Amino acid sequence: MHDDLDRLPGLLSRHAAGLLATLDDRPAAVPAGAPRPRRPLPDPAGLDGALAEFAERWEPGFSGSAGPRYLGFVTGGVTPASLAGDWLTGLLDQNPTSRLDSSAPDLERETAGWLAEILGLPSHTGLFVSGATMSNTTGLAIAREWLGEHAGISVADEGVAALGKITVLSAEPHSSVYKALSMLGIGRKQLRTFPSLPGREAADIAALDEALTALDGRPAIVVANAGTVNTVDFDDLEAISALRERHPFWLHVDAAFGAFAALSPAHADLVTALDDADSVCVDLHKWLNVPYDSAVQFTRRPDLQLRVFQNSAPYLGAPSADPLHLTPENSRRLRALPAWFTLRAYGRDGHRAIVERNIAQAHRLGELLQNTPGWRLLAPVRLNVVCFAHETRTPEEIIKAAAAEVFVTPTTLWDTPGLRAAFSNWRTSDDDVERAYQALLQ
Ligand SMILES: *Cc1c(COP(=O)(O)O)cnc(C)c1O
Repeated sequence: MHDDLDRLPGLLSRHAAGLLATLDDRPAAVPAGAPRPRRPLPDPAGLDGALAEFAERWEPGFSGSAGPRYLGFVTGGVTPASLAGDWLTGLLDQNPTSRLDSSAPDLERETAGWLAEILGLPSHTGLFVSGATMSNTTGLAIAREWLGEHAGISVADEGVAALGKITVLSAEPHSSVYKALSMLGIGRKQLRTFPSLPGREAADIAALDEALTALDGRPAIVVANAGTVNTVDFDDLEAISALRERHPFWLHVDAAFGAFAALSPAHADLVTALDDADSVCVDLHKWLNVPYDSAVQFTRRPDLQLRVFQNSAPYLGAPSADPLHLTPENSRRLRALPAWFTLRAYGRDGHRAIVERNIAQAHRLGELLQNTPGWRLLAPVRLNVVCFAHETRTPEEIIKAAAAEVFVTPTTLWDTPGLRAAFSNWRTSDDDVERAYQALLQ
């Protein structure tokens, strides 16, 4: 092992430099096919041997998800500075749970503060979690505690049963919201959807008003969307927020990738009211272009958050503002470091350029497809996602035929099967849009 340590810089730079240089040329997707037989643990090979075996047996089967034509799901790339930050995260191996031994929690707070600045969330404090699913879960856990505050109990102490029936309202909830409700003991069935505007995925505010009125003053949780995954539609956050004058509810906004609209002056009005929310979910491994796993949970009520997540023990100290007492995990990596690096290196302007370029690329692909016989858009391009279909070819056929060159993912929009191409990688060039388009036509 000590041997390996001496040779580590050389080994890593050779291997990683090779990979970095060929990232753009990797196949976009490499469908895994039948599961590979699992090999028993062989005799130790040393780092050299492990790298050689990885390169031969596993790397060829990995997707080009960090590359420029992987347009599946909503998948961010990795900026050079964030990659450096990620490597240093592993190298320095800080556990930012408390300030007893390290200022790492301060770096996390600074990074969340920078994000709050550029995303327009001055009333919020943020902490790092592993992804938007965990951010939604954490936000809804704080919402649950808020319901307890209304009922004069602590749900964290008494359990969710003490609350009785809980109502959660959302027009187009992301699937992870159901998962969060399951984990939180609220239950998937307590989520009630209400109508969207005609031909849109954005909430019909009058329908929400009606649903809240029917609750007769009983406090509820409203999950609003700032960027749905199929059509990237935004709820009118200002109008929803204004409903709180007449109805008591906690407003959680799932802004996993849509929050980054704030960086583009032409689209920032979609999220100007984001700060009014009680909790906000923002993913970073999507449009900030940091490696997996990174997201922030923002809230205006860290006091309720502390009630839920406090983890005191004589050896860990009393509940405080340290991440240990505010997030689901105890020990965790210093997730903030890759985000700190990319924000410090490229700033608001650099990240604004990524967002604006990706939006223009989505519009360009949308235009190309719309003007090609046989293809049609299932919805207008609103931000960075194109939702489309072909007259005769099935989504599965198209995905398979194009996979080496471009990766897109299937969906169903208003009962019509189709495809999504999501632009959120800084490496994607205008040339890649052309290549992606040509590949889809094959
Ligand atoms: C991606 C996404 C999620 C889930 O994010 P993970 O990082 O995969 O946990 C939740 N909500 C929205 C709107 C998303 O786009």
